[in-house]
Amino acid sequence: MRLLIFGPQGAGKGTQAALLSNNLQVPHVSTGDIFRANLSTGTPLGLQAKKYMDRGELVPDAITRAMVADRLAEADAVVGFLLDGFPRNISQAIWFNALLDERRHELDAVLMLVAPDEVLIERMLLRGRADDTTAAISRRLAIYHEETLPLLDLYRDKVIEVDGIGEIEEVQDRILSALGHRELIRGKSAAVGHRA
Ligand code: ADP
Repeated sequence: MRLLIFGPQGAGKGTQAALLSNNLQVPHVSTGDIFRANLSTGTPLGLQAKKYMDRGELVPDAITRAMVADRLAEADAVVGFLLDGFPRNISQAIWFNALLDERRHELDAVLMLVAPDEVLIERMLLRGRADDTTAAISRRLAIYHEETLPLLDLYRDKVIEVDGIGEIEEVQDRILSALGHRELIRGKSAAVGHRA
């Protein structure tokens, strides 16, 4: 399966993507995680990205694209992937569509995790990440609204909206069920279905 996952910061996107990747047995490719890993080990890529990340700005496209192309070329990602945090603006999306076309690959679905702002802010304050300063949070939220959300229009026939409110497992079950993988749902929720 080739999937994209979208959602505002704090929507639980990273947590759900990690679980889903495990359930579907496809690698979770998170651009934010890759940047953070490079930052913590002090690679040249990490050093280049740092000043943008600290401010909540997007890392320049050329750097981000090269990183994504390298990661998706790895053996585990050839059969499928769950891409989290990319594309994030129109130029990344155009580049990504061309990459998929060139490989004659198609996306299976685009997941959109939704949650109201109060919940998003509350969750972000709890996680306390280094770039979770008030200024960086509001900058990322603004970029999400201005640059990332409009991308959903490009993928409109593939978008599946999932409610991100509830227990982690409950949200995961909703995602699996929305993707038509109810057989992967564990426990009694599989039998009773889900409530919105
Ligand atoms: P969040 O989901 O909280 O907005 P991420 O973990 O996805 O954060 O990303 C953290 C930071 O990494 C971003 O603020 C940005 O600086 C950088 N980043 C992640 N993905 C991209 C991307 N596709 N293009 C440019 N920069 C990115």
